Amino acid sequence: AKIKEVDFVKSSNRPKDCPKDDRPEFAMLGRSNVGKSSLINFLVRKRDVALTSKKPGKTQLINHFLVNKSWYIVDLPGYGFANAPESARMDWSSFTKGYFMNRESLVSVLLLIDASVPPQKIDLDCANWLGRNNIPMTFVFTKCDKMKGGKGRRPDDNIRDFQELIRQIYWQHPPWIMTSSVTGLGRDELLLHMSQLRNY
Ligand code: GDP
Repeated sequence: AKIKEVDFVKSSNRPKDCPKDDRPEFAMLGRSNVGKSSLINFLVRKRDVALTSKKPGKTQLINHFLVNKSWYIVDLPGYGFANAPESARMDWSSFTKGYFMNRESLVSVLLLIDASVPPQKIDLDCANWLGRNNIPMTFVFTKCDKMKGGKGRRPDDNIRDFQELIRQIYWQHPPWIMTSSVTGLGRDELLLHMSQLRNY
């Protein structure tokens, strides 16, 4: 499951501009600020691999990174900019939904959930939408280092509450992994998980 090399392949404006080969791919999705860029950089152990997609509100792009010349990590636009106008949100949904519905080489969506905050409606809605459309997903909880042992809500509480809410809307139990790009928690587990899904 080792990552030996990572190549940035392309940014696509539209789902139909994505690479046309059928190498398996994993799509990273989550609220803006969830820690998606940090997670990608930490997975591939390179700084700023995921910089290209950083600017909120900029042209929405689907970024393909080829790992070990054999599979893709795909960085999708973040959703839920707090102050985005309604039209931008609509853009996100038609744009990203177009990708999900037509991408046959998609192995699984890695849905990133910030474990340092209580469950957010927009994340639950997103999981619900993916579930209803039979798109396989893995919950990747981010920022699990935050508030450990401190006062107030802990990541474990937030994760437990999220899973409980998911159980009420969705009959499956997607696999889930706890990560922290600060401590390195979950890196090996996530890489192993992806390699198992690829060979399935
Ligand atoms: P993106 O918008 O989803 O790409 O999020 P970023 O990767 O830019 O991260 C957003 C903010 O969360 C930044 O201030 C990061 O330093 C912080 N962050 C990201 N991952 C972690 C993490 O695992 N632990 C902690 N404590 N902070 C994180």
